[in-house]
Amino acid sequence: MPIRTLSLPLPGEADTAALGERLAEHARPGDVIALHGDLGAGKTTLARALIRSLAGPETEAPSPTFTLIQTYQTPGLAIWHFDLYRLNDPREARELGMEEAVDGLCLIEWPERLGQYLPSARLEVRLSFAGDGRIARLEDLYDWSSRLDGDWRPTP
Ligand code: ADP
Ligand code: MG
Repeated sequence: MPIRTLSLPLPGEADTAALGERLAEHARPGDVIALHGDLGAGKTTLARALIRSLAGPETEAPSPTFTLIQTYQTPGLAIWHFDLYRLNDPREARELGMEEAVDGLCLIEWPERLGQYLPSARLEVRLSFAGDGRIARLEDLYDWSSRLDGDWRPTP
């Protein structure tokens, strides 16, 4: 099966948030969403909207820049939000309790820091700059293309 990709223009911050809310609607225990993109691309914006959508709009969802991890208990789903920018070695992820996170929903900023420890069944979200806005390129390495409507195309 070829990998399916979906490209979505995100002209403004509200569009990034809306994508987070859309992913929240379809998230299940055990899911891994890898959020790629340079500093300021919108990874935390997307994660925060997703978290608030499940944990309540008043939920504070600070960037895990310094803590590396923030966890949330929502009805039916625990959320683990990682920012691994400061992870020096993939093996350190063990100390963060990443193994316990398998039953929850993992949102991972700077997922490339995990190297071979990055779970293979995942949704890749690649955020890049486009003028004043952003573009999201979703790559389905699991079953997300059957959950999310859109013009999914096989990766060329
Ligand atoms: P990251 O976590 O990738 O470093 P953040 O989400 O912390 O990025 O910051 C992204 C910045 O870009 C925020 O100021 C946010 O308001 C803005 N932003 C997010 N999405 C968009 C978008 N689609 N268009 C324009 N600005 C955006
Ligand atoms: Mg961030």
